[in-house]
Amino acid sequence: MRLGLSNHPKFDMTLDRFLEFADRLKADHVELKVDCPELLDALFQKGKVLNLRDMLESYGFKYIFHAPSIDVNLASLNPQVGNASLKVVKKSVQLAAELNAEIMVSHVGRLSRDYPESLMAKAYANVVDRLREIVEVSKELGVLFTIENDHKASDSILAGYVHQVSSLIRDVGCKLTFDVGHANTLGEIQGFLEHLREETVNVHLHDNDGVSDSHLPLGEGKIDYRSILDSLKRAITPPLLTLECHSIQGLEKDMLLLRSIL
Ligand SMILES: [Zn+2]
Repeated sequence: MRLGLSNHPKFDMTLDRFLEFADRLKADHVELKVDCPELLDALFQKGKVLNLRDMLESYGFKYIFHAPSIDVNLASLNPQVGNASLKVVKKSVQLAAELNAEIMVSHVGRLSRDYPESLMAKAYANVVDRLREIVEVSKELGVLFTIENDHKASDSILAGYVHQVSSLIRDVGCKLTFDVGHANTLGEIQGFLEHLREETVNVHLHDNDGVSDSHLPLGEGKIDYRSILDSLKRAITPPLLTLECHSIQGLEKDMLLLRSIL
């Protein structure tokens, strides 16, 4: 299975430095969070795209792009916020295509806990409408679009449980980025492996204690990552594995560990 790394705005690292780091660890692919300032700038300033393309091409990686999730909510009941979210994710797909990325990942958004549960159907309909538009653009541009499963949260989640994600994939016509750590906060890892393994094209690997989404290095939480890897390997088309620990030291440790297992 191809093994890659994801950056994160928390690292406070320039793109070039992160790519150097991934190169040193011999990653096969890199997932880039468009929430990082250099990529956010490129969304709205054409001039920045060419420089970025040169930089990305100078490394031999395949690329996955992760649409902005900070301040973005595709489920929003507020039409202005929902439309702005739709626009920024669509622009991210365009940027991914311009920079020759193969896969796009996006969160689907949530319904605020300040709303009654009765509005979940409205939030779901909003997500489906907006995701369908995004999937259409992705298909035109040749980028494979995936949604990412959510973790336990105080707001109402729309893509945390297997039944929610299965409905969305069916209604929208996209694929899945399976976040193992997120699924662990809901006790859903086995369910995803049983029901959605063949829809999974990318996997986010990190660890936690089953309660909070802490993005720990593997082995520091309670996830049985070895048995998950065994199951993923048996898929007809095994997915890409993307390490998503939220520390640079943790990523390095995880990379060495997985190389020895795989
Ligand atoms: Zn993730």
